[in-house]
Amino acid sequence: MSEAERTIAIIVAAGEGSRAGGDTPKQFQRVGGLALVAHAYRAFADHPMIDEVVLVVAPGMEAAAREAVGAEVAIVMGGASRRESVAHGLAAATARRATRVLIHDAARPFVPAGVIAAVAGALGKHQGAIPALPVVDTLARSDGLLGDVVPRTGLWRVQTPQGFQLEAIIAAHAAWPENEEATDDAQMVRHVGGSVTLVQGDPVLDKVTYPADLVLAEARAGPVWRTRTATGFDVHRLEDGEDLWLGGMLIPHSRGLSGHSDADVALHALTDALLGTIAAGDIGTHFPPSDPQWRGAESGQFLRHAAGLIRARGGEIEFVDVTIICEAPKIGPHRAAVTARIAELLELPAGQVSVKATTTERLGFTGRGEGIAAQAVATVRVPA
Ligand code: MG
Repeated sequence: MSEAERTIAIIVAAGEGSRAGGDTPKQFQRVGGLALVAHAYRAFADHPMIDEVVLVVAPGMEAAAREAVGAEVAIVMGGASRRESVAHGLAAATARRATRVLIHDAARPFVPAGVIAAVAGALGKHQGAIPALPVVDTLARSDGLLGDVVPRTGLWRVQTPQGFQLEAIIAAHAAWPENEEATDDAQMVRHVGGSVTLVQGDPVLDKVTYPADLVLAEARAGPVWRTRTATGFDVHRLEDGEDLWLGGMLIPHSRGLSGHSDADVALHALTDALLGTIAAGDIGTHFPPSDPQWRGAESGQFLRHAAGLIRARGGEIEFVDVTIICEAPKIGPHRAAVTARIAELLELPAGQVSVKATTTERLGFTGRGEGIAAQAVATVRVPA
């Protein structure tokens, strides 16, 4: 695609969608925790070949659309008919300097990235490109009783997104008779002599029309997850006469870490990383050092608390990684035990817990044996 090309996706979500049942227009009904229109929005907004997304909604639905999509999306008012709604979207795309548009129906929530790429890619050679699937069912005429079979050779099911050179679709709209409705933009382009090619469609693009389609869409959506990653860091001082707790294990050593709790620097770093994934503050927010009840406390409970907060939000811990930074003791001999203990505390398979150690080449406070540092990274997934 040339640098000068600018592709805008227009999602038409202005219909009433009454056939799908429910009080809400179907494009705002939720499947997998997200409104149908939001599924489609994400597919385009996340796609590298799409520069911007414009959403066309019925008057009065702007706030609902913004809430459903949860982003600073450009919103355009729909018109009295689908054709008018698309025309408003095209005007917005023109104002936003589009050279190409992909027009999509919000009732088709699941848009494979490959279909977007195929449609957008075909616009290098054609004025229009549409996804389509060959008809596989037997087709027949009927006036109540079975009539003749209609040969399905050469028959295609047309889907959206339909892609066009902006000039071609604007010209097609301008030429279309004022008082005639058009359900398909590609036919309008064809009507004025434009070339529209077919690209491979996808059954997941099928329209949500009836209540049963919402049930199928729910099954297709599954839960919608967001991946979150956060880091944690901690330092404690090494002192004589203290026990050394590291990663939930008592490690034999001449000195131990001092602090308000058991000073388990590895578990503190990891607790902060986990709290960070859900933006729930840090270990000090939940267990203030000023509170005497945490004096000498076993740090495993801090870690379990953080994991509990993630699970309470319906989240899952995917992976944790801890690096312990010290000259001594050697962590290698204890690595398996520490890994197993952290896995136990987090109720995770050991394969989702990584424990590493390093020295700082005798440099700095860790190198001089004044203290031990730890850093951690946690990756979780939470429902969107
Ligand atoms: Mg600490």
